[in-house]
Amino acid sequence: MSPLRSLLALIAFAFATSAGAAAPMAKSQAPGFYRMMLGDIEVTVVSDGTVDLPMAEILKGLPRANIDKLLARSFLATPTETSVNVFVVNTGSKIVMIDTGAGAFFGPTLGRLIPNLKAAGYTPDQVDEIYITHMHGDHIGGLVADGKANFPKAIVRADQHDADFWLSPATLEKASKDEKGFVQAAQAAFKPYVDSGRFKPFEGDVELVPGVRAHASHGHTPGHATYIVESKGQRLVLWGDLMHVAAVQFPNPEVTIQFDSDSKAAKDQRLKAFREAAKQSDWVGAAHLPFPGIGHIRAEGRGYTYFPANYAGPR
Ligand SMILES: [Zn+2]
Repeated sequence: MSPLRSLLALIAFAFATSAGAAAPMAKSQAPGFYRMMLGDIEVTVVSDGTVDLPMAEILKGLPRANIDKLLARSFLATPTETSVNVFVVNTGSKIVMIDTGAGAFFGPTLGRLIPNLKAAGYTPDQVDEIYITHMHGDHIGGLVADGKANFPKAIVRADQHDADFWLSPATLEKASKDEKGFVQAAQAAFKPYVDSGRFKPFEGDVELVPGVRAHASHGHTPGHATYIVESKGQRLVLWGDLMHVAAVQFPNPEVTIQFDSDSKAAKDQRLKAFREAAKQSDWVGAAHLPFPGIGHIRAEGRGYTYFPANYAGPR
């Protein structure tokens, strides 16, 4: 190469590198959905987004230093970026959604259910039934936008005990200043469905549609329910908020969280659910496990090890 040509090449190179990358950083994530087959049933986990939670302050039952250590061992800091997952179950004849994310109740990093649901190929009016694990804002906020139902045709169902507690005017009256916001959120989220006769609470353990049944797991809230999806001998147990932090509560299932209505009952339900899922090799799914929040657990020592789902490619 002549001296002039190599000088020009050098200038061109300097220009290219100083101008930055050929494309800007995207600062976005892949569309928030993930699918798996469970026998003949298709399950789509839809992300509502993530929220930073001060886990070391709100987890109870271990000294804070131990919680920090368990988080650090999993390369996590506190506040901890925490997923909010929604499960869409297509049984072949019905489209059932388990929980609805936070809607507008928890700030701008959550409330992404509707765009992610659409990205997954569903429209809100295709949802036949919505089953609520419990009436905390991060599970029910997505029912509404600006006071109007987000799901124009869906029947909404939840355990009667949660309805009796959260939707009662007496609960709102008795609530402390801190609790009032939670109760008001629940009442606002259910209002359009109650008003139009589309809220139908149930009692205890009951099959709701073929392939999906409710199981009472009261404790985190007075009417917390888990939902069991079953097809061709395979089971997926949707835990709702039976647990919150994989890094802490799988090795130490006795650790509770500040938001439990009855922490002793919540702990007992968690211990029972972990024991059964490990024994039966069930699929498990939880609202706050890292997206897509499904996997298996194995009993190990005094606790459990979590095995997140192996990535399933398109077929
Ligand atoms: Zn929650």
